[in-house]
Amino acid sequence: MNIENLEIGKTAQVWNLQNQPRLELRKAIIKARMMTGSYILQSDKHKFTHFIAEPICQLCNTENEDIVHMVTSCPVLSAVREKYYVEMKKEILDSIDPIKWNTFCCNKMEITRLILDCNNFKGTLNISSELITKIEEKGRNLLFQLHAKRIEVLNALNNK
Ligand SMILES: [Zn+2]
Repeated sequence: MNIENLEIGKTAQVWNLQNQPRLELRKAIIKARMMTGSYILQSDKHKFTHFIAEPICQLCNTENEDIVHMVTSCPVLSAVREKYYVEMKKEILDSIDPIKWNTFCCNKMEITRLILDCNNFKGTLNISSELITKIEEKGRNLLFQLHAKRIEVLNALNNK
């Protein structure tokens, strides 16, 4: 029994290491799709199907599902958002003036823009290149975790 547990643990660890670059690649691809608008959400389906598909978010049924809803508002994704967004915001506020943050990054649309591409804010928030790299990485992870949770919830709903 003990030996079996050890073997399983060992395999899992190797698997993780080997798949690390692949996971990073997947995160980057998801983010790129969101940035370019080719990540299809319910409101996109609505447009593409000439209004046959409902634009309402299938996860929460409270708002139309667009990228701002997914990134900043959907209550079903709030636990994931809390965990990774708070981390990202802390990183930023450790380095920049909170007044600047409140001036330039004060609504859902701006926060979504920041997470999708923090280069948009390099000038206005006066962010160093080093911090840009960190925010970029945290943003990529946040978007990927939201994506993973969204897929998980949608799959569970479809299997009902
Ligand atoms: Zn929702």
